[in-house]
Amino acid sequence: MTFSDPQPFVLAIHGGAGTIRRDALTPDLTEGYHAGLRRALAAGHAVLADGGSALDAVTRAVMALEDEPLFNAGRGAVFTAEGRQEMDAAVMDGRDRAAGAVAGLFGPRNPILAARAVMEHSEHVLLIGEGAMDLCRHQGLAMEEAPYFFTQPRWDALQAELERRRSGTPDDGDEQRRHGTVGAVARDRDGNLAAATSTGGMTAKAKGRVGDSPVIGAGTFADNITCAVSATGHGEHFIRRCAAHEIDARMRWGGQSLERAAGGVVEELGVIGGSGGLIAVDRDGRVALPFNCSGMYRGVIGGEGRAMTAIHREDYRAG
Ligand code: ASP
Repeated sequence: MTFSDPQPFVLAIHGGAGTIRRDALTPDLTEGYHAGLRRALAAGHAVLADGGSALDAVTRAVMALEDEPLFNAGRGAVFTAEGRQEMDAAVMDGRDRAAGAVAGLFGPRNPILAARAVMEHSEHVLLIGEGAMDLCRHQGLAMEEAPYFFTQPRWDALQAELERRRSGTPDDGDEQRRHGTVGAVARDRDGNLAAATSTGGMTAKAKGRVGDSPVIGAGTFADNITCAVSATGHGEHFIRRCAAHEIDARMRWGGQSLERAAGGVVEELGVIGGSGGLIAVDRDGRVALPFNCSGMYRGVIGGEGRAMTAIHREDYRAG
């Protein structure tokens, strides 16, 4: 499929921008990433093929990515400088701009369900701390303890980053060490759009730091009139640029195509040091997946049910 062709229904996902260095990417690991992406595409596609909503499809796809320890969200989230995990997530429904988000959370097995609970079972858009946890418990969300979320590679990445800081070694810009996030955008058969994003944030982030993912209009956005967007990358820059909403604005007021608006915003982020990328779908089911760094774990599945996944530029695999 050509991503710029309209699709009756379509799902795009990402598993974070800033990919592992090619020399560290063993064939097994490569296959692991592709398989994880394919499983998430299949989970979301099953919802859409069945006539389900874009909102349910992005939720299912992100849950699958959160459950996969290779990606930085839910199980496998990165660690703060203090060695804890603080997760952010958001979901948005393009039908009415309903939105829900959580930040700095630890406990819910699937933080995206916590975000959805905020959207559907509170009067608010963004909850943190004990209030968010109370809502999750009240809604009966599955909880997990620290061993479930822990992965050795994330712990090792934290130690390496702390050591780098201690020794005063300049940052080598290793994107894999710094980045990660998962997300999904979809258009369903009824033409409704939705976006969902979930992340552990950035390795060795400060306690209490919140990135762009749960900030509506920065890392997550959806409006049926224009597009649905889920971003990944250096969150502070995406927040300052209101990245996701900027794409909406260029389409809405500037008449730009999705491809041009999304590509332009990602290119401009790159110029100011905002390394990363995003996935986006427009009202007709066209998809754009721009990134300004070495790669972005990503995948697309359209109406015909053929999954395409990729890590670096132009290395698409049909699943
Ligand atoms: N955008 C995420 C954050 O800043 C991290 C990432 O996607 O790499 O928290």
